[in-house]
Amino acid sequence: MSIGHKLKAMSTSTNTSGFEQHNHSHCISNALAEADLICQQKTLRLTPLRRQVLGYIWQSHKPLGAYTLLEMLAASRAPGNNSRIAPPTVYRALEFLQENGLVHRIASLNAYIGCCSPSDTHQSHFFICRHCNSTVELATPAISAAIAQSAQDTGFMVEDECVEVVGLCPQCQNINPEATGGTA
Ligand SMILES: [Zn+2]
Ligand SMILES: [Zn+2]
Ligand SMILES: [Zn+2]
Repeated sequence: MSIGHKLKAMSTSTNTSGFEQHNHSHCISNALAEADLICQQKTLRLTPLRRQVLGYIWQSHKPLGAYTLLEMLAASRAPGNNSRIAPPTVYRALEFLQENGLVHRIASLNAYIGCCSPSDTHQSHFFICRHCNSTVELATPAISAAIAQSAQDTGFMVEDECVEVVGLCPQCQNINPEATGGTA
C-alpha cells in the first residue's frame, strides 16, 4: 500500500519542512507571519504570550514539552520581574495554538511542534528521529486515503489520525552509524 512510499512522502512535503539543512530563521519568520495573518483573518487573538510560545516552539524542528516552554517563559522575564507564570497559562496558550492548527501535539513525546501549513486543514503524519527528536510533518494525502479505505473496509469510524513514525534522520544516521544496527 501507499503508506510505504517514504521517498515520495519526502519529496512532496513542503520545502521548509524536510530533514535537510536550511536557513531556519526563514521558517520562524514565515511561521509567525502566517500565524499573524491567520489570526487576523479569523479575528482570533494572538496575544503576546501565545505568540511568544509559538516562537519558542518554532525555534527548532524538535517538539517542545509544556514544561520546557514554561521554563523558557520564566527565563525570558526581565530581571526583577518575579511574577510567576502558572502552568495553566501555558496549557491554555498551547490549547489555543493547537485548536487553530498552528501547532500539532506529538502524542508519543507529549510535546508540540509548529505546523508548516496552518492554512490548510489536514491530518498530521510525522517522521520523528529517535536520536535528536527532529520531526518532519508529511504532506501525504495517500496516508489519509489508505486509512479511510481501511476504515471503510472494517466498518471503523476514525475520529483522530495519529501517525507518528519513529526512526533516524539522515544526520543521525551519519553521526551515529552504530545506532542504525541491531534490532529495528
Ligand atoms: Zn526550519
Ligand atoms: Zn500541520
Ligand atoms: Zn536525528
